[in-house]
Amino acid sequence: RLFGEVLAHWARERPADTALVYGDRTWTWAEFDERVRRLSGALAAAGVGRGDRVAFVDKNHPACLETTFAAAGIGAANAVVNWRLSGDELAYVLADAGAKVVFVGAELLPAVEAVRDRLPAVERVVVVGDEYESLLTAEPLGPQELDEDDGVLVMYTSGTTGFPKGAVLTHRSVLAHGIAAGTAFPIGPGDVNLVAMPLFHVGGSCYAVSGFLYGEPSYLTREPDAASLFAALKAGITHAFLVPAVVAGIAQAGEQAMQAFSTMKYLCYGASPMPLPLLRKALAAWPDVRFAQVYGMTELSGAVTALDPEAHRDESHPERLASAGTALSGVDIRIVDPVTLEDADAGEVWIRTEQRMAGYLGNPEATAETIVDGWVRTGDVGRLDDGGFLFLEDRVKDMIITGGENVYSPEVERVVAEFPGVAEVAVIGVPDERWGEQVKAVVAGEQLDADKLMEFCRERLAHYKCPRSVDVVEALPRNATGKILKRSLREPYWRDRSRNV
Ligand code: ATP
Ligand code: MG
Repeated sequence: RLFGEVLAHWARERPADTALVYGDRTWTWAEFDERVRRLSGALAAAGVGRGDRVAFVDKNHPACLETTFAAAGIGAANAVVNWRLSGDELAYVLADAGAKVVFVGAELLPAVEAVRDRLPAVERVVVVGDEYESLLTAEPLGPQELDEDDGVLVMYTSGTTGFPKGAVLTHRSVLAHGIAAGTAFPIGPGDVNLVAMPLFHVGGSCYAVSGFLYGEPSYLTREPDAASLFAALKAGITHAFLVPAVVAGIAQAGEQAMQAFSTMKYLCYGASPMPLPLLRKALAAWPDVRFAQVYGMTELSGAVTALDPEAHRDESHPERLASAGTALSGVDIRIVDPVTLEDADAGEVWIRTEQRMAGYLGNPEATAETIVDGWVRTGDVGRLDDGGFLFLEDRVKDMIITGGENVYSPEVERVVAEFPGVAEVAVIGVPDERWGEQVKAVVAGEQLDADKLMEFCRERLAHYKCPRSVDVVEALPRNATGKILKRSLREPYWRDRSRNV
């Protein structure tokens, strides 16, 4: 099936119902569908065709969703670019995307203009606002001859472990994700789905699609800041996907803020590890909210496993609160020894699903390394319990090998996070003459005593897993999705050495 059929379907079935809310504006399904078909017409007239790309650089805006559907309608893909990138990074990603038309928010226009001479493929830059609206006077385009394996989105990986790579997601992959996610977290009559995470991340763009599939309204915010979230709550949102860093922000905003969220029906969270103390606090503060943790990645159009609401409150398996849950429908999981490539108890997580990307844009080598016999190598280390619950141990690149023993950094982080006063923690490997690598905790928080913290760990963890040193910092470096950038923490220690930081 094709991506655009979703809009056409609801435009037929529920033309006057609300599809999308943004600030004080609303779009009905009929308006949304018509605007998208007009934009497809304008793009086709501008020479964008099957196999081409457009790009979008702005904070969240409805025009980004329209552009994705409009590009998909003519067999082109929308490369949604992280607006926080530095000039060089922006030039790299936009050049990599090879977009013919770049849509840009007025705030971001200077950044794009500054690198425009490095973007030979770009034929036109369209500013979101009046110029964008003027394109929508084009004649609406009808259905085109397309294939399920045509790209619809180019989503760049977060760049947590290296340079961002552009994953080409297709009609097939994005719809398979939307159906699997929507089955796991049903959206029904009366529900309103909040899309607050950045649209340049699968947790924004692909999550939004899973909401559209069910014909209920979506509420888009420009950013996931406190003011926008409260406005969304006032507007009656019932469902949301938020990353743990945003949930932490709500918890830090105090009692009243916590209280406001207790009216939600469904809270989906994921994309990076959820600190257990925070999760317990949220579960206690929001007794009626159904929690779902998802694990996934850009290359898989989003979530592939989920810890469902029942498992969150299952007292016979409290340990499963730390797991990423079970496979979504249509998803197969294998655990593979990264060296022998045989099935193993603990090892790299491999995933097989229709949600898989077509490949990395213009990078067949990286694609061949990541997709093996139809399986996606996630770069994450994990194991499955007897109920099929996936426990993520670490990223392959973040695993610490000290004296021949593997230390999984999240296991140590979970203990450090329980130490009074710790607000944030990252555990990394630093060079050690004798053991190869040494465990180091980098923490931010209040009145932290490094010796007491190390002693606290020694009482709770095997000796070789305990931090041998502690760095206290103001705040940990994070990327736009809120993930801690361990490679920047490791970099000063490994500068002249062989570890591929
Ligand atoms: P890059 O691939 O460029 O290094 P990235 O892997 O962070 O960046 P994404 O595709 O945004 O880019 O993130 C996917 C990764 O996020 C997963 O491989 C996993 O390590 C982590 N992740 C996702 N969901 C969860 C979760 N629920 N718990 C823990 N980690 C998660
Ligand atoms: Mg990755």
